[in-house]
Amino acid sequence: MTRSFRIGRLFGIDIEIDYTWFIVFFLFAALLSTDVLANSLPGLSLGARWLIAGLTTLLLFASVLLHELSHSVVARRSGLGITGITLFLFGGVSKMSDEPKSPGVEFRIAVAGPLASVALAFVFLAIAHVVRPLPGGAIGNTVFTWLGGVNGMLAVFNLLPGFPLDGGRVLRAGLWRAMGSLAEATRIAATFGHALGLLMIVGGIMLFALGAGFRSLWLAFIGWFLIQAAQSSYRQVVLRQAISGVPVERVMTGDVKWVPADIPLDHIVNEYVMRHNHPAFPVFDQDRLIGLLCLADIRNVPQERWAQVTAREATPPLSQANTISPQTDAWDALVRMSAENCGRLLVVEDGLLRGIITRTDIMRLMRHRRELGL
Ligand SMILES: [Zn+2]
Repeated sequence: MTRSFRIGRLFGIDIEIDYTWFIVFFLFAALLSTDVLANSLPGLSLGARWLIAGLTTLLLFASVLLHELSHSVVARRSGLGITGITLFLFGGVSKMSDEPKSPGVEFRIAVAGPLASVALAFVFLAIAHVVRPLPGGAIGNTVFTWLGGVNGMLAVFNLLPGFPLDGGRVLRAGLWRAMGSLAEATRIAATFGHALGLLMIVGGIMLFALGAGFRSLWLAFIGWFLIQAAQSSYRQVVLRQAISGVPVERVMTGDVKWVPADIPLDHIVNEYVMRHNHPAFPVFDQDRLIGLLCLADIRNVPQERWAQVTAREATPPLSQANTISPQTDAWDALVRMSAENCGRLLVVEDGLLRGIITRTDIMRLMRHRRELGL
């Protein structure tokens, strides 16, 4: 996924922006400039309106970021690994490397965000109240009242009881405590999320048909987005339940085709890649494992040099990025597989190659467990 890019780091948490956020930025700035500011401050010039609208939208962005940071900080205090925050479309997601360990933890993480939004709403409304009598206070009053209102709406929207919205997480925490099963609680909470999404789509289209304007289609769009999110987060929980607790050594492929370090790439392409149809090979120098050679590593070398460059020269060295121990959880293996290690990891113990693990191995495990009703 390269739809987002990093803008910085706060409290050791990577902050990323999804490209969809630029659409939102423009839409909110346009709404503010042409609607809110034009109506309440008709005396402002067009340039001034857009400038104020842009600055206000940045404050909105900071509000959403604070909402997400609140989730992340509580999650981290509860011992969960937070890898980053991505701000997108109508909010953000905190990327957790773990699911909460208990319903209580889930509840606390979920409510932290809306509580931050409510607090922000009060702060902005208070500022609006304070600046109103000042010279030029009308602008500040309009802007901060709007920001207060939007933060209030963010709190209310996020508390709607559909997973993966915060309210859906609160619901899941309650169901989880009542039923004792995270998977079942997630299934029900995600069904609520799905239903809520449908309701928004139908509501948005009906409002539009009744002449409520294009803003009602925005509601339908958010509904569609929520349905996608409900489905994918449910699939992730199911997948996780199916494979966690199984060590890598029980899923890996043990008998691995390898290549010697000193043979040139053209030979590898002709004799190994074409013949064995594998996209990656462990590379050995005598008995010593030196790394994992992926097709992408071969592609990085210009084709006319394939006859001169050896496997040793083209192979990235062994590292955390391409190795894993046989006792590691299969779920962690899946999380760690990326394009960088061509979607596979070398299973290494005491410097010795035990096998190789791929996404396909893990999917096979999942399918078997499901067929066995495990
Ligand atoms: Zn939230």
